[in-house]
Amino acid sequence: MTVQPAHRIANLSQSDIRHMTRLCEHLGGINLGQGLGDLPAPLEVQFGAITAIRDDHSSYALPEGIRPLRQEIAKKLLRDNGLKADPESQIVVTSGTTGAFAATLAALLNPGDGILLFEPFYGYHLNTIMLSGLEPQFLTLEPPRFALDEERLRAAIRPNTRAIVLCTPSNPSGKMFSEIELRALERVAEACDLLVITDEIYEYITFDGRQHISPASVGNLGQRTVSIMGFSKTFSVTGWRLGYLFAPEKIARAINLVNDLLYVCAPTPLQYGVAAGFAAPPALLRGIATEYQRKREILCEGLDHAGLTPIVPEGAYYVLADISKFGYSDAKSAALALLEQAGVAAIPGSAFYRSTVGESLIRFCFAKDDGTLQEAAKRMLRFRAA
Ligand code: GLN
Repeated sequence: MTVQPAHRIANLSQSDIRHMTRLCEHLGGINLGQGLGDLPAPLEVQFGAITAIRDDHSSYALPEGIRPLRQEIAKKLLRDNGLKADPESQIVVTSGTTGAFAATLAALLNPGDGILLFEPFYGYHLNTIMLSGLEPQFLTLEPPRFALDEERLRAAIRPNTRAIVLCTPSNPSGKMFSEIELRALERVAEACDLLVITDEIYEYITFDGRQHISPASVGNLGQRTVSIMGFSKTFSVTGWRLGYLFAPEKIARAINLVNDLLYVCAPTPLQYGVAAGFAAPPALLRGIATEYQRKREILCEGLDHAGLTPIVPEGAYYVLADISKFGYSDAKSAALALLEQAGVAAIPGSAFYRSTVGESLIRFCFAKDDGTLQEAAKRMLRFRAA
């Protein structure tokens, strides 16, 4: 028997995010590519999980997640997102936000349905869409503000479009959608009867006093929105693979069915860990933004000195920088040159664009300790034109 990859993965390949990490490890560079987040997890979270393992909470959980965690999530949704959720029927704990996204697509959309992504997009969104047999559609938002225009949005909707993906704060641009933009989105989504799928995993990483707005809290958007959130970035536990979603009951039930079939449940003892994190005083969550804002300043200043003009992000922990004046033929060769010359890994902008706009951009992650960012800033001065 000749084993051939299935048609559904014929056009897929290892992401540039993963590729740059492997290459960086091989060359021994500083990895500002993949959003690894190497800050320590809060002690409350660590001890919560350790205690759960000691108490032998090692069996399957309910597919929708352990009850104490869903109760903490419901409290947090009300307090921080302005969302009223029934923990019994509207919350599903998932295997990462990536698992939440995959289960949502499988539960709510049919092969051939169109799904709109704002460009620059997060590559895993696009690839999961492809894997699900959906048709990705794109609307490019222009730097530096990445503003969403209602008429352009309306024009981007095709007869087969069924859903819109909204990542806010956005990976990779750091764009945070404003209430005015979300009202425009609501009008278009209502007129075209679209599902809205959010990715709010960076909700606590916002800068200059900006407030994250959960799309589901705006007008009537909550009726048609699956709000996907996660713990990876909030508690620096990217390897725990834990996320969650909030949706109207009927929608949450459909997604939870798929969540059960694909993943059975998210890791049980780790769910206790993040529950302890949400149960801790909210100051724990509020401190996150201050910490990352300092890191943003260190990296952006370093990029400026190296001639890599940063597009200063409003939120999340990435920054896109303009590499066009270095004269490389594309973003990939620029990222490789940066790694070879300076020993700093970053992600080519092309990983976040279908159009050629991404060829003049490169993405850096600043979820690193300050010393590493300072060292990277120093090294980047070695980056030379092609
Ligand atoms: N979200 C992170 C990034 O954008 C990591 C994703 C991943 O490793 N797949 O880099």
